[in-house]
Amino acid sequence: MTTFLLNETTALDAGALTPVLTLSEQRKIDRVVVTHAHFDHVATLPFFFENVFGRRTPVEILAPPPVLAALRRHLFNDALWPDFTRLPSRRRATARLRPIAAGKTYRAAGLAFRPVAVNHIVPTFGYLVSSRSASVLFSGDTAPTRALWELADSAENLRAIFLEVSFSNAQEAIARASKHLIPRQLAAELAKTSREVPVYLYHMKPPSAAAIRREVKALKNPRLRFVEQNQVLEF
Ligand SMILES: [Zn+2]
Ligand SMILES: [Zn+2]
Repeated sequence: MTTFLLNETTALDAGALTPVLTLSEQRKIDRVVVTHAHFDHVATLPFFFENVFGRRTPVEILAPPPVLAALRRHLFNDALWPDFTRLPSRRRATARLRPIAAGKTYRAAGLAFRPVAVNHIVPTFGYLVSSRSASVLFSGDTAPTRALWELADSAENLRAIFLEVSFSNAQEAIARASKHLIPRQLAAELAKTSREVPVYLYHMKPPSAAAIRREVKALKNPRLRFVEQNQVLEF
């Protein structure tokens, strides 16, 4: 259930907005940048919009068009949940879908976001997120990719990479079928960029997490570490 809170007003993905943030923290959020439409990345959007209903300005959902199209069709459709892009009224909606282009930079709240298409079973985008003094790279869900690492090489002041690792080495077949990474692939992925910054691993499937931790430890790469729930990182 992936969510990164980038600053007080901006979240990346919405897998865990409502169970982790307090109501008053949720009310401060003005935009949610989305990597892709899979449920572990958007599942809490419906409850989040219920929680912030009645805002003066819409919360923006930012992603490249194919991601927004999937959200529009499958989530904001008045079937599973009310369509908050038209409530309480079309003119003063609670949510607004805002397309951003892959390869272009979008600026808001003192941050710049640059989406890059990665290699997953549905349209998915990693993001380079930059402030004036630092950049961090988020992989999104991905199998082996080149585009992500080209973006890493082009980044100014890159301080960290957040990289998915979803399954254990023994689950290589399911990782390949679902387009995710396993520990054995990490060294080859990281060799595609010259940037030697800390790498924070995330997106471990719960039944695989213990094996992944063992296998990553065995790699003996001091740059590799794991993101923990509620961890606060400053760059
Ligand atoms: Zn996914
Ligand atoms: Zn996922």
